[in-house]
Amino acid sequence: MSFTLLFSYIAYIIIKIMYQKLPEEIHPLRHAQDGLKLVGKLHTHNMLRLGDALHNMKGATANIDMIFDVDKENLPYLQGKFISSLTFICERCMHVMSLTITAKCLLALIQNEYEIKSLSKQYEPWLIKINEPMQLDCLVEDELILALPLVPKHNFDCLSIDAWHSLAEETEIITNFTSPFAILSALKLKN
Ligand SMILES: [Zn+2]
Repeated sequence: MSFTLLFSYIAYIIIKIMYQKLPEEIHPLRHAQDGLKLVGKLHTHNMLRLGDALHNMKGATANIDMIFDVDKENLPYLQGKFISSLTFICERCMHVMSLTITAKCLLALIQNEYEIKSLSKQYEPWLIKINEPMQLDCLVEDELILALPLVPKHNFDCLSIDAWHSLAEETEIITNFTSPFAILSALKLKN
């Protein structure tokens, strides 16, 4: 096999591993016992709760990188990283903008609430039912929602000089505006 052919073959295998077909359902406890890794791309068009916080969801995808495993104390966990480029309205200039959201999580898979108290600080609890599959997109959606900015805005001074001028004019108009209550009290004083 020539070097070029070998290189193409290795690249093909790497891409295949990186973008495996993701399952719709996951079985967290079983996956932790198996040490499963999931890497791939997920369409976000079904994530309606996430969509409520966005300008639109057109063509949005999330890159998924998940490792299910068991730690030294035999605690099953999920380490996940989800990256998605999402479209918002900037709350400062009201223009559409794109932000890359990165959500990272380290979840301890527990089956009873009393286990939460004994969890090491690095973990967030994930209460699951044994043998009950979970929807992969629900988990990814929850984690992306938790990572959304409270106030989406450009990371630079996006208001133009014109906008600042009109804002200043508006402030002036408001300052010069005499309230009807002030006129009333002036009239009262006269009487
Ligand atoms: Zn802006």
